[in-house]
Amino acid sequence: MLDSKYIELIRKENTMVYSDEPMDKHTSFRIGGNADCLCEVKDTVSLKNIIRLCRENSIPYFILGLGSNILVSDKGIDGLVIKLGGEFNEISLSEDNIIRCGAGSTLARLCVFARSMSLGGLEFAWGIPGSVGGAIYMNAGAYDGEIKNVAISAEYMDNNGNVRVYSGDDLDFSYRHSVFTDTDNIILNASFRLVPESQDKITERMQELMDRRKAKQPINHPSAGSVFKRPQGYYAAALIEECGLKGFTIGGAQVSPKHSGFIVNDHNASAEDVLKLIEHIKKVVMEEKNVDLCCEVKFIGRQ
Ligand SMILES: Cc1cc2nc3c(=O)[nH]c(=O)nc-3n(C[C@H](O)[C@H](O)[C@H](O)COP(=O)(O)OP(=O)(O)OC[C@H]3O[C@@H](n4cnc5c(N)ncnc54)[C@H](O)[C@@H]3O)c2cc1C
Repeated sequence: MLDSKYIELIRKENTMVYSDEPMDKHTSFRIGGNADCLCEVKDTVSLKNIIRLCRENSIPYFILGLGSNILVSDKGIDGLVIKLGGEFNEISLSEDNIIRCGAGSTLARLCVFARSMSLGGLEFAWGIPGSVGGAIYMNAGAYDGEIKNVAISAEYMDNNGNVRVYSGDDLDFSYRHSVFTDTDNIILNASFRLVPESQDKITERMQELMDRRKAKQPINHPSAGSVFKRPQGYYAAALIEECGLKGFTIGGAQVSPKHSGFIVNDHNASAEDVLKLIEHIKKVVMEEKNVDLCCEVKFIGRQ
């Protein structure tokens, strides 16, 4: 439990504060126990003060985007979960063909804004249900597009509260990885260089990719998208299907009958069910295909 004196100090900042907050409300899996405290921070100064408070008092913190690539423990999360709201949702055209977007914004809002400015290049991201921060963090990608191709810089706060920028090659993007992966730097906003394009063409491409998603993915079931990274030279979904695991179920967690790369929360799955299913899939695929599947979804919270 987080001491109430710290919760009161966080409340004094420009934030919304929720103590003992159920995380199933904040994850696309609809799974997860309670976080000691969740706050939605609205500006950089408050964020800096809260980070300092956490550091000085050894309070663990976790930055949450839209919760679409995480599995939260049934036992919940120690310390503070920080969501970015307020100024971290702002989007603007900062220079010709360059959009700057707060890390708390959804990718969907960014895509719609880019289209309204007649700027193309982000259509691939339409349908990825994450935030801009989450997309930069793991270099989100789909249908031959990647954040790497459009992001030119990202402003972040380090764990001492200093605001700094990474740009160009320093962003260190590769497959589902960036300079931010597995660090505790907080992405504040990012800039994207796009190309002039007609709104009709952008709409057409977005629609086409969304139709492909709807046809192939179980988007009406709670999930965290593809559970495993693409192993070199293979497709995780094909390997899982070839091992006869399509539809395989443990508790409420099921290998999606529509797309074997997804695990869906079929009926009230626990994080434990999902973890057991992941272990089972990894074991069978290793035994039958000699391929070591690596998880893309991140497990968060009490062990
Ligand atoms: C139906 C479905 C389809 C999907 N399709 C795709 C797809 O096509 N391609 C793809 O790449 N992904 C896909 N995903 C996975 C997911 O949407 C992406 O990985 C997305 O980028 C995660 O963003 P998020 O905001 O939800 O991050 P979260 O799940 O909230 O967090 C993921 C990680 O990012 C970190 N993070 C988030 N914001 C910040 C920040 N501001 N600063 C520092 N760290 C931060 C978190 O701490 C955490 O470590 C899909 C998921 C679902 C449910």
